[in-house]
Amino acid sequence: MKPAFRIGIDLGGTKIEAMALDSDGGVLLRHRIATPAGDAPATIAAIRDLVEAVETRLGGTGTVGVGTPGSLSPATGLMRNANSTCLNGLALDRLIADALGRPVRIANDANCFALSEAADGAGAGAAVVFGVILGTGVGGGLVIDGKILTGRNAVGGEWGHNPLPWPVGDERPGPDCYCGRTGCIETFLSGPGMARDHLAQTGEDLSGLAIATNAAAGDMAAHATLDRYIDRLARGLAHVVNLVDPDVIVLGGGLSNLSLLYEAVPARWGHWIFSDTVATRLVPPVHGDSSGVRGAAWLWPVT
Ligand SMILES: [Zn+2]
Repeated sequence: MKPAFRIGIDLGGTKIEAMALDSDGGVLLRHRIATPAGDAPATIAAIRDLVEAVETRLGGTGTVGVGTPGSLSPATGLMRNANSTCLNGLALDRLIADALGRPVRIANDANCFALSEAADGAGAGAAVVFGVILGTGVGGGLVIDGKILTGRNAVGGEWGHNPLPWPVGDERPGPDCYCGRTGCIETFLSGPGMARDHLAQTGEDLSGLAIATNAAAGDMAAHATLDRYIDRLARGLAHVVNLVDPDVIVLGGGLSNLSLLYEAVPARWGHWIFSDTVATRLVPPVHGDSSGVRGAAWLWPVT
């Protein structure tokens, strides 16, 4: 029987969300539960139960795509780089497929975000879309002609662990990163990275969004932190443009809510982009926090 709908599962550190989409991308239903923390077998059972609950309510069988932190290593077939570390070392696709009795597709959550926004979001109709997550970490995903560029090593778009380009002053060697290197883009452009920078400069311990609020209220120190952030994001994205020259860059994650980024960053990135003009658009997400789960559903084609 032809699948009647597509189910996306967004497997996060604190919650697992399921969403069923119809063939036009319309939401049939969504449901979220808490992630069984640190317990991989319970997490897989929870995914199975979620899918069964969705299918019972909708009265049919769907395709299942799963967005995860980290990714499956092409060399071993096992998960790696997931910050939900209990998943690392598992053949997660096979375990979920066995639990459900059908094939599933798995992709990194930043890739799912980029796919969702490329399919029917802020990058709809564009040939090359780079999706960026600016949240507790920094991730990226590249979608070309509607398909995720997973890459030979399955690290396509993993931009957050490149070094911050064109570093100046005390940006070198930069903060230590959990990946074992120093000065990664993530250490500057994640929410905690922005907070660390502000703390180091001012002694104030504030979240990224609180810094932006203070800057808008006229706080000069917060304004300076935001200005450094904008400059670093412009440099980081200029690197991406020089390499893959996307039509659209879509920001996601908590810091994508900083509306000033969409004018301030393009106003600066031309300084580093190897072109006389820059037509690439920098845009906010259409689907916001739902893009991860929507992109997981989009891992299967329309039937
Ligand atoms: Zn790193």
